[in-house]
Amino acid sequence: MQLQYKIFLTALFFTLIYIYSSFSYISHVKQRLSDEKYKEVVYNIGNEVKTLIEEKKEAILLLSLALSESDHIKNILLQKKDFHQINLQAFSHKLKKYSSLHNVWFQIVALDGTSVYRSWTSKSGDNVIEIRDDIAKVLQNPHVFSPISVGKFDMTFKSIVPIFVHKRCIGVVETIAKFNSISRKIDTLGWKNVLLVDKRYKKQLHVDKKMFLDGYYIANYTNVSKDTLAFIAQDLQSYKEAFPYKIKEKYLVTTYILKDINNKKMAYFILLKEKDSITFTEIKVQMKALVAIFVLIYMGIALFAYYIYVFYYKKFVQQQQSILEEKVASKTKELEAKSLKLKYQAEHDTLTQLPNRFLFLDRLKQALEEAYRNNTRVTVFFLDLDRFKEINDTYGHEVGDRLLELVTKRLLQYRRAEDTIARLGGDEFTLLLENVKQKDSIKIANQILQSMKKPFIINGVKHYTTFSIGISSYPEDGRTYEELLRNADTAMYKAKESGKNNYHFYNVAMTELAMERLKLEKELRSALKNGEFEAYFQPKIDAMHKKVVGLEALIRWKHPHKGMIFPDSFIPFAEEIGLIASIDNMMMKLSMQQVLQWHEKQIECGKISINLSARQLTSKNYINELETAVREIGLDPRYIEIEITETHIMENPEYAMEILHKIRALGISISIDDFGTGYSSLSYLKKLPVTKLKIDRSFVVELPYDKDDVAIVKTIISLAKNLGLELIAEGVERKEQVDFLVQEGCYDIQGYYFSKPLSKEDCEKFLKTFE
Ligand code: C2E
Ligand code: CA
Ligand code: CA
Repeated sequence: MQLQYKIFLTALFFTLIYIYSSFSYISHVKQRLSDEKYKEVVYNIGNEVKTLIEEKKEAILLLSLALSESDHIKNILLQKKDFHQINLQAFSHKLKKYSSLHNVWFQIVALDGTSVYRSWTSKSGDNVIEIRDDIAKVLQNPHVFSPISVGKFDMTFKSIVPIFVHKRCIGVVETIAKFNSISRKIDTLGWKNVLLVDKRYKKQLHVDKKMFLDGYYIANYTNVSKDTLAFIAQDLQSYKEAFPYKIKEKYLVTTYILKDINNKKMAYFILLKEKDSITFTEIKVQMKALVAIFVLIYMGIALFAYYIYVFYYKKFVQQQQSILEEKVASKTKELEAKSLKLKYQAEHDTLTQLPNRFLFLDRLKQALEEAYRNNTRVTVFFLDLDRFKEINDTYGHEVGDRLLELVTKRLLQYRRAEDTIARLGGDEFTLLLENVKQKDSIKIANQILQSMKKPFIINGVKHYTTFSIGISSYPEDGRTYEELLRNADTAMYKAKESGKNNYHFYNVAMTELAMERLKLEKELRSALKNGEFEAYFQPKIDAMHKKVVGLEALIRWKHPHKGMIFPDSFIPFAEEIGLIASIDNMMMKLSMQQVLQWHEKQIECGKISINLSARQLTSKNYINELETAVREIGLDPRYIEIEITETHIMENPEYAMEILHKIRALGISISIDDFGTGYSSLSYLKKLPVTKLKIDRSFVVELPYDKDDVAIVKTIISLAKNLGLELIAEGVERKEQVDFLVQEGCYDIQGYYFSKPLSKEDCEKFLKTFE
């Protein structure tokens, strides 16, 4: 998770907690304030009710007290007659008119208990002591008695006051008023109210049943709406004594309890006020202030937190930045190292670590610029390993690579610090020398050639290789790097042509030669395509028995413009450019087909000898090609002989052995060509699966006059006999040579003496006449 996101979540979390706790605090405060407000409201109404009751009580008492002082009433009571003269009707009217005492009743009782006047009935003169305990008590023991009480018909205010004459009690005045006027007054104060008289009074009350609610007499029945009654009825028991208040639905409910003189609960004044009518202005203001305070505190905290966040976040960002910078710096270093490595790789050969063509050309260009400015010389050596391809093909690329590494090591030993040695690719190296005279170039070239003399030992096997070196110099052999390199290359070819393992300085004639080589290669390829090659056949004769024992197939090139071209002028070149395999395979087929044709014509020609280039000794394909040719053409392998020069076999005897065995396995004979020139070791010769030795022409030429040649030929003949090998001598031109050879036991002869190589037509004629 991102840091900023985390911080945001934390802030959100704390904000929510803050909002939650401040809201609960505010609502708690609101609750408390409301409670106080409600209490205030209910205490106020309680006081109001109390005052109203006290006031009315007092008013009633005042009336009784006033009447008790009336002389008129006193006189009538003293006289004990004319009671009918007491009439308080008019007084009642006046009270109604001028005061709030609208329904007031009076009674005057004489000392003996006779009710002399009752304003609510015309009846009088009866004794009330029996039924009015309270009046009886006052008469007995005169005192002011002013209770609220429940009578037969209603709940009332009463005041019973004794009438004195000369401190002697002569009767009482009683004033009665209905209680429910209080209820009406409370109504006007905005409080609905229900006055319930305690159940105790149920029996004594002679009123309509509908005026009861669950046994409680509704003293203000006429005043109460049905809705209010219904509401009270829901939970009468709890409303009956709601103290200090109860909140139910839309009402605030409180109860004022009235007690009788014995302090017993007499009535319950249940008061209801609509909550909404209570104004909470102050509370609202206080709440607003509280909310404002909380918001302000929050903003303060938020600001502080933000300040801290910005402060620390900045620090954090700075830290991150410096970490990042460090990372970038180390990455940059890495990249620099990498790019250096890449540059190195781009400019160096991976195998030998020598500069590659690219770097070499770059240095050569620089050297040339400097030489141009300072009028100095630049010399380029073009070095090509001799026979590298052979080693590579024979021993595999790993050995080839290893050889290149070892050669590089030696090259580096003979180099001056300021010289550049580069590997152009394959087995081609270059050496760049600045300010070196020709005679010093010769010295260096000789040193290099010398350094290659010792064998290179790879996997315990000794390998020999040499260099052919071409040398060109600025300014005489070229002014651009292309010219110099090309001309050194040309000179290198010259060195190869003149026997390899040497060096050659460039001269103009070489360029022409190089052009010729290019031309020749093109011509050779088209010759192959156009079938310009032909097989010639030179017979081999058994001089003793005068019969043809075989033919050697020799290639001829019928050039469309130059006429016939002999193999010596193109075979080595074909070997060099890798065209020899195709040429040999073609010759192989041509000659086999020809022999087959002669066989079909019943012409005896003995074995056909096919020359095999040394290059083919290392070709994995050769055996396959030979086998398919034999199979497809259908010539009996008994009639086939392969000629391989001795030198080549002896260069790689182990490898040659393998391929020679395969040839032999096909039923084909093997003849060692140019025998005597390759210093065959006897031990190898014994092991090689060959069938014939062919004495080289060079030992035949001076026969029988040259003593050395005579000795050599004799030795070869006895060697062949000892090893059980067949023999043939080549290049025999004269009779005395034939005679010597036959005399020494070499009967098979090949040479101009019997026949030059012949076209197939001429050969056919020859074969026919020889029979
Ligand atoms: P080689 O295999 O030693 O062939 C014998 C060469 O001696 C032939 O030369 C032949 O014409 C020549 N010769 C034969 N008798 C005499 C003689 O009495 N006196 C003299 N002076 N020369 C004689 P050619 O045909 O010019 O071939 C030269 C070489 O070219 C061959 O030497 C062989 O190494 C190579 N060659 C010829 N044809 C082929 C071929 O089809 N494949 C390969 N790989 N090499 C071939
Ligand atoms: Ca030959
Ligand atoms: Ca030969």
